[in-house]
Amino acid sequence: MLRIAVQSKGRLYDETMALLEEAGIRLNRGKRVLLLSAKGFPVETLFLRDDDIPQSVAHGVADVGIVGENEYVEKGRKARLVKRLGFSRCRLALAIPKDEAYPGKEWFEGKTIATSYPHILTDYLARQGVKAELHVISGSVEIAPGIGLADAICDLVSSGSTLAGHQLKEVETVMPSEALLIAHPRLTADKQAILDELLFRFEAILAAEGKKYVLLNAPGNRLGEILDLLPGMKSPTVTPLANGEWVSVQSVIAENRFWEIIGKLKALGAEGILILPIEKLIV
Ligand code: AMP
Repeated sequence: MLRIAVQSKGRLYDETMALLEEAGIRLNRGKRVLLLSAKGFPVETLFLRDDDIPQSVAHGVADVGIVGENEYVEKGRKARLVKRLGFSRCRLALAIPKDEAYPGKEWFEGKTIATSYPHILTDYLARQGVKAELHVISGSVEIAPGIGLADAICDLVSSGSTLAGHQLKEVETVMPSEALLIAHPRLTADKQAILDELLFRFEAILAAEGKKYVLLNAPGNRLGEILDLLPGMKSPTVTPLANGEWVSVQSVIAENRFWEIIGKLKALGAEGILILPIEKLIV
């Protein structure tokens, strides 16, 4: 049995639960209990506050954890980083009142900065050669300048709307952050085998993200040019059609190039273009 620490609520919760479900780990989401056994896979989930996850994995209370990089780095990277999961992307940023002129990092010299990330911020300021005072608070950091508690803040930013809503502007990125899969440094062989299987499933799900399966009919005399547009996994699959002059082509394309590629395929005479979502991709 592998015990996975996951965030009990907050931004990471929904995406973590969706990833586990896609990986075939069925949990009764309705049940708000600390420890929950999964159906269909030898894991149990331990629901914790995000800032408790790095230590619980480092100390072996949980075997693995899914946690924001911000918390992992703040708590000293004591667990083993297994995989970057690519979701819950955000950045830890410095923000100041929006009407302040900002000449550069020297603005922070002698100022007070409110944050929940004192270790990361202390390291950052030391690297930048800036001396500032930190005011450590555990939540609602964005209200600190407005109530005279600090001159500036260092907090997680995703869309930026929280900052804008508090008359603040982002001026420096301290570090980018995303969800991470972390593990206890020494797992038993049994637990490591379960983690390897979990990782295999996560990788198949993450590899499918941003990709589409494309099926089309192409005139045989333009096949070379059409294949140049479709790199495929190894190379595209080409099957002759019954009429002899046309072929059917199957391949995988990147979603962010989708419209560009489809436009070019049509211009080359491709027809009957069918685009399908890819759920999992095992390479
Ligand atoms: P936003 O208004 O979208 O920029 O989000 C900012 C608020 O959401 C701040 O209170 C952040 O602490 C929190 N937040 C944003 N992204 C994340 C994340 N990936 N993980 C945890 N908290 C986040």
